[in-house]
Amino acid sequence: MSDSLVKVRSLVKHFKLEPKGLFDAPPVLRAVDGIDFDVQRGETLGLVGESGCGKSTTARLVLRLIEPTSGSITLDGVDVLATSKKELMALRREMQIVFQDPLSSLNPRMSVGTSIAEPLRFHRIADKVERFDLARRYLEIVGLSKDYYDRLPHEFSGGQNQRVAIARALILQPKLLILDEPVSALDVSIRAQVLRLLIDVQAEFGLTYIFISHDLSVVKRVCNRTAVLYLGKIVEIAESERLYREPLHPYSQALIRAIPEANPDGPRADSLAGIEGDVPSPVNPPQGCRFHTRCPHRMPVCTEKEPPLMEAGDGHKVACFLHQEAADHSDGQ
Ligand code: SF4
Repeated sequence: MSDSLVKVRSLVKHFKLEPKGLFDAPPVLRAVDGIDFDVQRGETLGLVGESGCGKSTTARLVLRLIEPTSGSITLDGVDVLATSKKELMALRREMQIVFQDPLSSLNPRMSVGTSIAEPLRFHRIADKVERFDLARRYLEIVGLSKDYYDRLPHEFSGGQNQRVAIARALILQPKLLILDEPVSALDVSIRAQVLRLLIDVQAEFGLTYIFISHDLSVVKRVCNRTAVLYLGKIVEIAESERLYREPLHPYSQALIRAIPEANPDGPRADSLAGIEGDVPSPVNPPQGCRFHTRCPHRMPVCTEKEPPLMEAGDGHKVACFLHQEAADHSDGQ
């Protein structure tokens, strides 16, 4: 039975840009353009896609760090967008984020222990001695010595600082942790250790993750389900194992083919074999299927109509007319 912690429905975020001329209408950047997804309690949902596909904007919308243009978001049944400022502050205890660059979220002049304890002070949880003890405990939980409490971020490696950032996010015991490219800035040798830590603390604290990455080999390792985004839309979502074994959308297929381990002799991960050109501008996305300008399988209908996200069986959904027949069959069952 479904036990959704997060529900996102028809979520849209358009940014108005500066008009070019004095009398021009402001161009609109369609960063997120109508997406729906659930995150089940205790699972890790991956959001993947090339730069500019809307994955990080989605994360900020879920946390309400930015306001959506329209749509709805609920966390554990609470309407995130309907909360007052005070209620939102309380709700933020339930959902935390870890960014790509730990130094951007740590104060360089504050000891790492004080940084870890800071969210407790902000939310007026525990007294000073208890906060000190808790920060030392969370240093140990993330694999660092509690004796590092007084050290400054510059005394640590990138991997150690990311552990500090994770401890700081965990100390409020959130229900949802959003991980925005959490290992992308780390040395390859450190990545596996930090991923292992994330998997371990998820099991220990019963956390739910939204894991954002452009690196599909990382997502494959840690995510139960994966959603592929393209130009502000989800084009495919499925159990990770199924998506990687049997991707249905031509864009997902190209992304997965480009993973070095899937095809060691193939092109580099940042080049998509068989896919023409670059991602079009989200200011002026193509009509019909947004992927049609790059799709090797495009048909006349693809330039006329936008494919909806269609059920392809067992929760696997795809937005591509190539799979319309299977979706119709699935609906009729
Ligand atoms: Fe390609 Fe058409 Fe499918 Fe879009 S709908 S991915 S253009 S085949």
